[in-house]
Amino acid sequence: MLDVPAFACALAGGIVSVAAFALLGDRLVAVGVSSLALLPFGIVLWRAGPRERDTKVCPECRCPLPPALENSIEEGEPILHHCRPCGILWFAGSTSS
Ligand SMILES: [Zn+2]
Repeated sequence: MLDVPAFACALAGGIVSVAAFALLGDRLVAVGVSSLALLPFGIVLWRAGPRERDTKVCPECRCPLPPALENSIEEGEPILHHCRPCGILWFAGSTSS
């Protein structure tokens, strides 16, 4: 699911945060450094999210579908999008994929 930039950011952030905890005596400073190191990963995920949502349209009326209905984020839970104009619940896969 993760593309290369997201994976690279996560890897770099992980290495920096582990190094921060290993090299810095002050835990609070290490937490701060880790947060800054993982910030690019968060930005990449944040930018990828809306783009992915925008591609989902209702197969019936071609309206953009709203974000998935909330569910408990457990394995195998269905991801459902509700099209208001049609009143149809669209099944968009399950949370395990
Ligand atoms: Zn529709």
